[in-house]
Amino acid sequence: DRSKIGFIGLGNMGGPMALNLLKKGHEVVAFDISKSALKTLEEKGGISKDSPAKVASEADIIVTMLPDSICVRKTYTGENGIFSGMSNGMMLIDSSTIEPEVPKELAALASAKGAVFVDAPVSGGVNAAKAGSLTFMVGCTDVSTFSVAKDILENMGKNIVHCGPVGAGQAAKICNNMLLAISMIGTSEIMNLGIKLGLDPKVLASIVNSSSGRCWSSEVYNPVPGVMDGVPSSNGYQGGFGSALMTKDLGLAQSASTAAKTPTPLGSLAHQIYKLMLVQGYGHLDFSSVFKFLSEDKKV
Ligand code: NAD
Repeated sequence: DRSKIGFIGLGNMGGPMALNLLKKGHEVVAFDISKSALKTLEEKGGISKDSPAKVASEADIIVTMLPDSICVRKTYTGENGIFSGMSNGMMLIDSSTIEPEVPKELAALASAKGAVFVDAPVSGGVNAAKAGSLTFMVGCTDVSTFSVAKDILENMGKNIVHCGPVGAGQAAKICNNMLLAISMIGTSEIMNLGIKLGLDPKVLASIVNSSSGRCWSSEVYNPVPGVMDGVPSSNGYQGGFGSALMTKDLGLAQSASTAAKTPTPLGSLAHQIYKLMLVQGYGHLDFSSVFKFLSEDKKV
């Protein structure tokens, strides 16, 4: 069925996601604080509005894809926010990566206003957003809500998983990204050590990838320049998933582990390593640049 879908946040991820909704024949009504992001979508057939409230007053369903918890709260609850313009029975889907507590707050507020809020953060990155092959980790209480959300999300992704109640999608997302950071740092450490011990990095990578140390960071996204083609490490660490966004996600995992009184010693160390990278200017580089950070001799 053709729906009128509101989309707020047309950045690296949201832009291509909204475009996929248009390609599948839906009407898209959009808002972003960036005029140029709105213009790009208009050129492909989207309709621009000048506030989240106006998007909400026209759409049947809304998807938000914003940088952080502050932007998400403001977009839903602020002046001219989604809650001030929406009608009864609306479904609101937030795909940003944010604190797991925020979706719980927003779901309670939405429910008091007769709407349903679902968290659905993604993994897969910009290429998967463009290809429409994202994984969505969905948090919502009942199966019928999940089924409505899934129908919409299938236009933008191919793996839509019900993780549990509201907030469960964010919980799954930050656990995965914490492990990714730890495995990327570990892979970078052993690649650097092996090279210093005289090993050819391609030989070392091929040994690890057919042995028990194998992981996504060593096999699909090796951090050492020249070991693999088509990954950020072989392209000056450009594109991909920025160290600044990874640092944000590690911070979310640390806040969640503090709240849950659960020890995460390696996650905590990974967070500190990425924070060190940010102050040294690695924030805009792909997160696999931790290899560069660990391996470069910095003469002061
Ligand atoms: P981005 O910075 O490229 O895009 C964010 C967009 O939101 C921008 O167009 C910006 O103008 C807009 N925006 C900011 N504040 C706004 C507001 N108050 N109202 C309306 N629009 C506003 O970020 P991105 O890479 O698209 O990431 C979005 C989210 O997805 C983040 O939470 C990120 O952690 C997560 N994520 C990113 C990736 C990735 O590989 N880039 C992968 C998975 C998840």
